[in-house]
Amino acid sequence: MSRIHLLSPRLANQIAAGEVVERPASVVKELLENSLDSGASQVEIDVEQGGIKLIRLRDNGDGIERDDLPLALSRHATSKILALEDLEAVGSLGFRGEALASISSVSRLTLTSRHSGAENAWQVQTEGRDMETSVTPAAHPQGTSVEVRDLFFNTPARRKFLRTEQTEFKHLEEVVKRLALSRSDVAFSLRHNGRVIHQLRPARTEAEHERRIATVCGPAFIDQSLSLDIAAEASGLRLWGWIGLPTFSRSQADLQYFFVNGRIIRDKLVAHAIRQAYQDVLFHGRHPAFVLYLELDPKLVDVNVHPTKHEVRFREGRLVHDFIFRTLHRVIADVRPEAAAGETA
Ligand code: ADP
Ligand code: MG
Repeated sequence: MSRIHLLSPRLANQIAAGEVVERPASVVKELLENSLDSGASQVEIDVEQGGIKLIRLRDNGDGIERDDLPLALSRHATSKILALEDLEAVGSLGFRGEALASISSVSRLTLTSRHSGAENAWQVQTEGRDMETSVTPAAHPQGTSVEVRDLFFNTPARRKFLRTEQTEFKHLEEVVKRLALSRSDVAFSLRHNGRVIHQLRPARTEAEHERRIATVCGPAFIDQSLSLDIAAEASGLRLWGWIGLPTFSRSQADLQYFFVNGRIIRDKLVAHAIRQAYQDVLFHGRHPAFVLYLELDPKLVDVNVHPTKHEVRFREGRLVHDFIFRTLHRVIADVRPEAAAGETA
């Protein structure tokens, strides 16, 4: 073994990228979250070859100031938190300041932005190398564009794990769907190899929101689901959304979206509560379909559990579990009175 030395920033970023950037879909997730955090009301996504060759995303958010552009690509550089306390009630989707640094270390990345207060747009480029990024003038309306080319071009071992274009695109599309469900007020478009795959207009009314759900999840889901919106005064918990009728059960758990304060999550506790609520009305091996939004005081949930932020930790897990279970159980029992037999609450 040789002596201890510091890793170069590029190598450190490439190692960190292993946690955040698994495939084109993870790049799109990070870029989309940044756009939403910047207050964008419109996001256009263009991909080629399943995102392996090209991912281009353009938003109309607040943009980045000229002098901040190189920083945006540095690791541990974020505009979203200042102190540890901020994490206790973080409202943004990002906060780790890792995504752009990671992505730029394993691709050819161009970041172009015009800040809301600026007259001109500026651009920085990287090629996965340790280099001084130079800021050059560019043409761009207010907002930000990120172009990610040749993902994993310099990390062949990672590239080998990529699947076919079609499979990578499916994963990527799923990410867009999730974020489109999380923010109905934002317009999204997704093109693959020049073809329009999704074009979602912003939803402002409940009917428009429902239309977005139908577009993303399929019209059959909305037709065969129950809508709900229930709040518990004492705990400040609110659960709303749509749950599929027992007759709309699926052979796979492929239509299950659960958002906590606007962030999609996978959580054992939540999954258990939902499964229990459906227990008496679903056949063994069938899965419920749902698009559900849980809202609670951000202080009661820790989102900094994992770099991809798919996991959360509830401060009062039992309370959350029981609220979800009771709410859904009651809604389901209302259409299937016999299911209420086990109701104890
Ligand atoms: P994080 O989102 O955790 O802060 P990122 O690496 O994803 O870290 O982004 C770094 C910073 O770059 C962000 O904090 C933000 O200030 C800026 N940024 C990135 N993307 C955008 C965007 N689309 N619009 C405005 N600012 C952005
Ligand atoms: Mg981010």
